[in-house]
Amino acid sequence: METQSTVETPSAPKQTTFVNSYARLPDRFFARTDANTVRAPRLIKVNETLAEELGLDAGWLASPEGVAMLAGNSFPPGAEPIAMAYAGHQFGNLVPQLGDGRALLIGEVVDRRGVRRDIQLKGSGPTRFSRNGDGRAALGPVLREYIVSEAMNALGIPTTRTLAAVLTGEPVYREELLPGAVLTRVAASHIRIGTFQYFAIRRDVDAVRQLADHVIERHYPDLREAGNPYLALLETVIARQADLVARWMLVGFIHGVMNTDNMTVSGETIDYGPCAFMDTYRPGMVFSSIDQFGRYSYVNQPGIAVWNLTRFAETLVPLLDADQDDAIAKAEAALRQFQVAYEATFHAGLRRKLGLLEEREGDLTLISDLFEMMDRHEADFTLTFRMLSGHVGDEGGGPTRDLFKEPEAFDAWWSRWRERLAEEPQHDAARRVAMLAANPKYIPRNHRVEAVIRAAVDRGDFAPFEEMLAVLSQPFEEQPGMERYAEPPRPEERVTQTFCGT
Ligand code: AMP
Ligand code: MG
Repeated sequence: METQSTVETPSAPKQTTFVNSYARLPDRFFARTDANTVRAPRLIKVNETLAEELGLDAGWLASPEGVAMLAGNSFPPGAEPIAMAYAGHQFGNLVPQLGDGRALLIGEVVDRRGVRRDIQLKGSGPTRFSRNGDGRAALGPVLREYIVSEAMNALGIPTTRTLAAVLTGEPVYREELLPGAVLTRVAASHIRIGTFQYFAIRRDVDAVRQLADHVIERHYPDLREAGNPYLALLETVIARQADLVARWMLVGFIHGVMNTDNMTVSGETIDYGPCAFMDTYRPGMVFSSIDQFGRYSYVNQPGIAVWNLTRFAETLVPLLDADQDDAIAKAEAALRQFQVAYEATFHAGLRRKLGLLEEREGDLTLISDLFEMMDRHEADFTLTFRMLSGHVGDEGGGPTRDLFKEPEAFDAWWSRWRERLAEEPQHDAARRVAMLAANPKYIPRNHRVEAVIRAAVDRGDFAPFEEMLAVLSQPFEEQPGMERYAEPPRPEERVTQTFCGT
């Protein structure tokens, strides 16, 4: 059963059609939530391309009625604002009730390709799950999420998207007074591993089954035909997450807070809090100020994904087989497939990054030697691959060698790589084109994100935000005049810590 509604406003006769399904699930899945009025909502930006993709009218979204919705002040008919219930393991500790404490699902829309997408406000005010929080968001983290989520999308990595950002006209209190803002997040769904945990720890197997059925229906309808649809669901989520984390690793992305409530069952990256892209390659790199023991460091991400997926599998055990031992055996077999799926994406991606068309013995050693050298000689992750791409046909190492503290150390590796490339028929010109399409020039470097936030928060200047968004929308293109966005930070610009901003 679904509700449909069409909204026509006299000033701009545009339509927003919500087609809600999550709100049809039993009441214990969410808390209905009223609008929280903020004083003076003002639009920062509507993502016009995404609005178009969703079949929403960007002009209406930017109108006073649209902005009122984006700020959570009032909702058009058909919206059914709810805060979703979920639990989660935070840094390994189970919290039985988290839930949307500063987010509000206002409804679902079906996009132009027929895909159902959630429209959610982040920072629109308190809900039943806010605990001691204020339900608000500060401008800085909102801009950070906008930039990084859209950059991830442009890099071809599954992610929640950002439809809009608005100022609330009200301050939020963190360590200081900051401008308040609301981000509109779009996701295939906001169902997390933590959503399953919420019901599993309450021994509410009926709810786990209803949630699993909803997820299959919504994300993986083909699985209805599987012999054991719940096992197929587990296997599919494992495969999606393995693929996702491998893609993060290929661009040097560190999520920063891979709690089970921050891992979707759709396979989209979610929750851009203390995330960051590495500049200098360091496998143990951690940015998040709250990650004292490096649990969520770059190199730990695949292992943590398995840990989280094991928590997911535990919630499904009662559905996998009537016999518990058999159910556990099935779950374990499914979890063992993570490594296989992860390596499939990761190794194929590494090959593409290095211009290798064929699989040869010794390739993985060649690749890991490069990583080891980048680590030892403090080379910039993104620039190393980009320069190898642009200079693949050069004599003797090209400018890439200068990224390494001891350039001589690079030369021997370069010769090995060139010899390996020579075993394949491809010409350097074609190789160069293929590598440039696999190795981005522009990533959201932390020091640049910080500069954008400072300009907006300190001076009300959103021009740098707009410029950075535009640059990052074409990460693989040379963009003359924008090279500064590709440069690593100078020592004094280096960002060593990031914060959740909650
Ligand atoms: P996150 O760090 O975004 O993954 O959030 C973890 C949990 O803390 C979720 O249940 C959030 O809803 C809640 N939370 C984070 N910030 C706030 C806030 N400002 N007010 C209320 N709840 C919050
Ligand atoms: Mg979260």
